[in-house]
Amino acid sequence: MVGAAGVCVTDDDVAQLAQPLVGRIALVTGSSRGIGREIALELARGGADIAVNYARSEAAAAAVAAEIAALGRRSLPIRADVSDPEAVAAMLKAVGDELGRPDILVNNAGITRDTLAMRMKDDDWSAVLATNLTGAFLVTRACLRGMIRGRWGRIITIGSVIGTMGNPGQINYAAAKAGLAGMTRSLAKELGSRNVTVNLVAPGFIRTDITADLTQEQIDAVLSQVPLERLGDPDDVAPLVAFLAGEGGRYITGQVIHVDGGLVMS
Ligand code: NAP
Repeated sequence: MVGAAGVCVTDDDVAQLAQPLVGRIALVTGSSRGIGREIALELARGGADIAVNYARSEAAAAAVAAEIAALGRRSLPIRADVSDPEAVAAMLKAVGDELGRPDILVNNAGITRDTLAMRMKDDDWSAVLATNLTGAFLVTRACLRGMIRGRWGRIITIGSVIGTMGNPGQINYAAAKAGLAGMTRSLAKELGSRNVTVNLVAPGFIRTDITADLTQEQIDAVLSQVPLERLGDPDDVAPLVAFLAGEGGRYITGQVIHVDGGLVMS
């Protein structure tokens, strides 16, 4: 095929542009629902094979895996609580056996247990830290050897604007998300020489089950601070993750990138 500028474009070039992630294997934690689900589908549209991790929602994860298979990609729904080291090890073994070693990891699994600091129970604190921060560490560590051996890797963790701004009632969540930013910067420095990039994508207020309980008053208060004057949707976040996962992201590492309609500006 000859392009507009008279440049010869091969069928392989066209396929690479349409599906830049062909041949890649991605593990997306917490991809049965919400933002993780959309990220899994977006990476699959880009050509990657996908491990669809979940904790409880077996039917939802199976449905995501079926959608991915319908796109012509391989997929594996895989249950594992990311805060459980043994479950994480078993997950990596199963993914390795079924799909191959992941070269793209999206640490997306997350929970909230909101309450004011003086009422926060030990368990509210430790459950949020265990899933959101320790979980990302455990899955990242389990994927590192393979990425380093392959001399190619993408680690994309889902943070939050709350890790940057803070929010009353969310000291546990803010601490976990801010911790992920520090982990991201340190890992980026450890892994740069191995051609593994590490970034944190920090969404603002995105319409999913996590934000479903916000009152109209709370939504109006958020929107008064958002220049783009709307809440986000999962498909506002997923394209950035897919970009970072592809070759376009090859010189971007150690960054915290807010996807929030302009809520946080630095
Ligand atoms: P969501 O709709 O509640 O989905 C959460 C996902 O995480 C589900 O797939 C859930 O699996 C999984 N998960 C929870 N605990 C897990 C565990 N211990 N092990 C494995 N998977 C687990 O949430 P979301 O809004 O899409 O949030 C996704 C990520 O984006 C989170 O890290 C969240 O903090 C972050 N974020 C969200 C917003 C927002 O406004 N929505 C803003 C900023 C950041 P099951 O279905 O099996 O329970």
